[in-house]
Amino acid sequence: MELKVRKIKDGTVIDHIDAGKALIVYKILNIPNHIPITLAINVPSKKKEKKDILKIEGFELKEKDINKISLISPDVTINIIKDWQVVKKLKPKIPDLIEGILKCTNPNCITHFEPVEGKFIVESKNPLKIRCYYCERLLEKIIFK
Ligand SMILES: [Zn+2]
Repeated sequence: MELKVRKIKDGTVIDHIDAGKALIVYKILNIPNHIPITLAINVPSKKKEKKDILKIEGFELKEKDINKISLISPDVTINIIKDWQVVKKLKPKIPDLIEGILKCTNPNCITHFEPVEGKFIVESKNPLKIRCYYCERLLEKIIFK
């Protein structure tokens, strides 16, 4: 079976997303509503058994947003497309400091009661260990805001 996914002229293609995670990736990127996107879920992959692909037309992701993806699916490949050609290939890096995006898992943390933006220190990248800057508790799981 041949897979037909429409090519895009300009934009960003996020490839090799862990199967089933493309929608979470899409959600955290805050892509403006009018931007056309194409989602492919559970398609065959050479590297893994299955993968998801997200194509974003006419929209180039910023490095900050690219790095967010590493918290969901660290093995993605990001291709920046211009005039039907791949002009740049990027890999997300897990940042040392994460601002916003996440929710602290400690219900008593000040970030739930005060209008402060969450701040998290990445203590270890493999396995991923993230500590809340405010209450100093290790996050039990990754919850996106
Ligand atoms: Zn906290």
